[in-house]
This record gives sequence, C-alpha cells and structure tokens, in this order.
Amino acid sequence: MNRSPQITPALPLFPRTLADALLAEDHAEDTGWLEPLDRMTCRVHRRWARDCPARHRRAS
Ligand SMILES: [Zn+2]
Repeated sequence: MNRSPQITPALPLFPRTLADALLAEDHAEDTGWLEPLDRMTCRVHRRWARDCPARHRRAS
C-alpha cells in the first residue's frame, strides 16, 4: 500500500481563522459533542481562549 499524505479538507476542530473557529465551536458545543472547557475560543469575548482577558473558563 502506498501511504500518500492526505489532508482532510474540512476539519472543524482545526479552523484556520478565529471566525471559523468561533462558528465551528459554537455549533459543536450546541450540538453537544464539544465540552465548553475544550474550546479553543472564548464564546463570551469572541476571541482565542489564550487571548481571553478574563479567567471565566474554569470558574464555577
Ligand atoms: Zn473570555
């Protein structure tokens, strides 16, 4: 078997832009297969979680 490298065209968990990530993760969370704490983006502030100014991800 020839193992040629293949790139999956559209992986929702690896979006290229912040807008794509927000859309993908909002949808994933709403449909129940992504835990809020597993998000790479902040739903509250609409930015990357690492850039989030607040520490609300692990709160409560
Ligand atoms: Zn935030």
